[in-house]
Amino acid sequence: MKIICIGRNYVNHAKELGNEVPTEPVIFMKPDSAVFRQRDAFYIPDWTNDVHYEAEIVVRIHKLGKNIEQKFAPKYYKDFTIGIDFTARDIQAELKSKGLPWEKAKGFDQSAVLGEFLPISEYDLSNLNFELHKNGAVVQQGNTRMMLYDIPSIIEHCSQYFTLKIGDLIFSGTPAGVGPVVGGDVLEGYVEGKKVLDVKIR
Ligand code: ZN
Repeated sequence: MKIICIGRNYVNHAKELGNEVPTEPVIFMKPDSAVFRQRDAFYIPDWTNDVHYEAEIVVRIHKLGKNIEQKFAPKYYKDFTIGIDFTARDIQAELKSKGLPWEKAKGFDQSAVLGEFLPISEYDLSNLNFELHKNGAVVQQGNTRMMLYDIPSIIEHCSQYFTLKIGDLIFSGTPAGVGPVVGGDVLEGYVEGKKVLDVKIR
């Protein structure tokens, strides 16, 4: 199983980090060992002082495919959730400044948090509201309409390079409002007002 992540997919987030708005999807991956299901606490690794949350809509692939056209893409997923792409921002900034790959900052253990999956048939994935709360206050608010590349176009693009397999996950990018976590924080993710994610930080 692989985890494909899209960077800078919301203009307001690209700008808050001082990045250019991309002309094609920015892709990176996390290894399957990064998956964290929300039953345990998230432990901040000791090699970073600046772990950020990035709340994102995540779709799960349920059919093998390559070179998938946008119009057929919705046949390849049937459930989704809200996830957190935990990022060691200090390590990422250092690697980015040297032009090096980001994997250590993005793919570490527990860095791909997944909420409870929901059936796409009951939601409109092209117009979906989601929120992340930190310690009870709203820190990120997004709607999938604000994505530069929607899920079908992400799938068309990615599947030209990588065969999509059953169980693969696509993290579709984060809206503005990313920020750091410290021990004791609680993060909660909501989709259309329904709480599907709850993570305690240690
Ligand atoms: Zn992200």
